[in-house]
Amino acid sequence: MHEMGICLELFASLRDVMKENGITALSSVTLTLGKASMVVPRYMKDCWEIARDGTEFASTELKIVETPAHGRCLDCGFVFDIEKFDRKCPKCGAVDSFVPLDGKECEITEIEAA
Ligand SMILES: [Zn+2]
Repeated sequence: MHEMGICLELFASLRDVMKENGITALSSVTLTLGKASMVVPRYMKDCWEIARDGTEFASTELKIVETPAHGRCLDCGFVFDIEKFDRKCPKCGAVDSFVPLDGKECEITEIEAA
């Protein structure tokens, strides 16, 4: 589980943003996670709850927005939603034969000052 490390990294970048903007508390943070980011939203939320305890983020809510991951089929070139089609090209039926195009996002896309 690497979500705890990601949490601590998020705290560090949030502290920088808060300092730059003169913000002392945040009511919410929105994290955009791609389906191919290898970060599990549920674990991420759990880690957030544990890691924020006793910090300035103790009352900051973590919101997660998931974005789909697409892949281009190596056999026929078709672009499809990897998760929706269970890693199988809906056009030619090739399984696990694609180049990932997106869905690796793991970034803060919105913060709300308290
Ligand atoms: Zn295909």
